[in-house]
Amino acid sequence: TVKEEKGTISIHTENIFPIIKKFLYSDHEIFLRELVSNAVDATMKLKRLSSLGEVTEELGDLTIDISINKEAKTLTIEDRGIGMTAEEIKKYINQIAFSGATEFVEKFKDAKDANEIIGKFGLGFYSSFMVAEKVEIETLSYQEGAAPAKWINDGSTEFEITSVDKKERGTKIILHINSESEEFLEEARINNILEKYCRFLPVPIRFGQKDERMEDGKDEEGNPKYKEVKVDNIINDTNPIWTVPPSELKDEDYKNFYRKLYPFSEEPLFWIHLNVDYPFNLTGVLYFPKIKNDIDVNRNKIQLYSRQVFITDEVKDIVPEFLMLLHGVIDSPDIPLNVSRSYLQSDSNVKKINNYITKKVAEKLSEIFKNERSEFEKKWNDISVFVKYGMLSEDKFYDRAKDFALLTNVDDKKFTFEEYKTAVEPEQTDKDKKIVFLYSTDAAKQNTYIETAKSKGYDVLKLDGVIDSHFINMLEQKLENVTLKRVDSDTVDKLIDKGTEKESKLSDEQKESLKSVVEKAIGNENYNVKVEPMDESEMPLVVTLPEFMRRMKDMAKTGGGM
Ligand code: ADP
Ligand code: MG
Repeated sequence: TVKEEKGTISIHTENIFPIIKKFLYSDHEIFLRELVSNAVDATMKLKRLSSLGEVTEELGDLTIDISINKEAKTLTIEDRGIGMTAEEIKKYINQIAFSGATEFVEKFKDAKDANEIIGKFGLGFYSSFMVAEKVEIETLSYQEGAAPAKWINDGSTEFEITSVDKKERGTKIILHINSESEEFLEEARINNILEKYCRFLPVPIRFGQKDERMEDGKDEEGNPKYKEVKVDNIINDTNPIWTVPPSELKDEDYKNFYRKLYPFSEEPLFWIHLNVDYPFNLTGVLYFPKIKNDIDVNRNKIQLYSRQVFITDEVKDIVPEFLMLLHGVIDSPDIPLNVSRSYLQSDSNVKKINNYITKKVAEKLSEIFKNERSEFEKKWNDISVFVKYGMLSEDKFYDRAKDFALLTNVDDKKFTFEEYKTAVEPEQTDKDKKIVFLYSTDAAKQNTYIETAKSKGYDVLKLDGVIDSHFINMLEQKLENVTLKRVDSDTVDKLIDKGTEKESKLSDEQKESLKSVVEKAIGNENYNVKVEPMDESEMPLVVTLPEFMRRMKDMAKTGGGM
């Protein structure tokens, strides 16, 4: 049996508990994540020892149990893992866990961004003192002949070890919930926390039982009858798809998982299974969602896990900004969670992970483009926002995407940049030998101009999306020898000026008088009136409104409630 013992935990900071409470004030709930993670660790260690032949007994049911006792005001976490001997408690709980907690407090007691690290930092076992006035550990080690032991601590530096009667291998952590934390005695609250952090842990986690409707024979008319039965309330899926090799998964599996994560979303367009173990460890599945124009509601849909424990859905810095619109899961034990944001930004693993994700996404898109061009074209409308945003924000992504990014013309034909250059070069090169990309931002309003351009054998692109004005600027900078011109900003012949003057049938005098007649008729000097020879065209003269005037007019219209 265990030698009864009382002692003092040796630490430098006398009053560690008030500090722990203060620091983690806004995120008390993570204590449960920490304790369940420890239970999972202990169970996985046992499994490993068993597979190595170090443990020969039957392991039995390894389910971790969480339970609440409202009268006693306790919350208990019980596992069937490796357990601890009294010596191990002293070593792992009194010394190691405590020094971790002390280090945390030392490091961050002056930190300004304490809030940022909260929730990302695992205080480990001692985070239980955020919600408990007293913590008891009852444990029996898997080692042969080990005696069960009990550890008691009431939130001071004094601890007590006694013997206890425990027959089952494993560890039971009993938290005596303090009066400010009674929310953690509510079933719904605990269920929520477990679903948030523990949903994909690798060992089954049971939180009591729940009612389930079950078919129970048929009535006289042959309709199914139902009854309510009690079933174990298992919180987690122990084999989420990102832990399964891609070769074993079907499309349906990815879609099912997506539905599980985002029950009310439309089916994703496609997905990327991430899987690397060198030079860092990262797994995950990223989905391209179908997004509407409202980009903002789609943000923060990527969940970050560390060994299947949910950490956060704030993945800024880890995922490139332009891919924040993606959905899905990333799991990496190599992302430092115990540090502040500024550290995260300078961490080399984080940078590598960020680059890796960008590269993977580009590779996947390129693969679909090469192997299933028509599928790619069908999806282009939905993914073009990502791709354009990515090309605008990261040069590296531009370099990868420039070969599969598509331009759509007003007839919905799609071209790569190079294809488009080749297609329009013979017709649409101006006198400076620049290839002119004509584009329209509003096919309905600019219809006359589009039709004129087409009748002259010119092609017109459709660039009417939310970020297309930036995209147009970028194309002009990146594409050599190409200039972009909006189809209604002048007459087509001016836009694609080949430098060949045409003979006018009118004399200069006739032109001037025609011009002044029209100008008087319009009675608005903002309009440009031009009298020019226009081959084959049926329009003898053209009236255009300068770009800024057109915009003013558009604004006045929408402002006027049209
Ligand atoms: P960490 O998990 O990062 O090691 P913790 O403070 O969470 O830090 O736990 C400290 C140590 O206590 C663990 O490494 C482990 O050795 C021991 N321990 C905690 N919980 C359990 C448990 N349920 N079963 C066995 N050992 C445990
Ligand atoms: Mg831990």
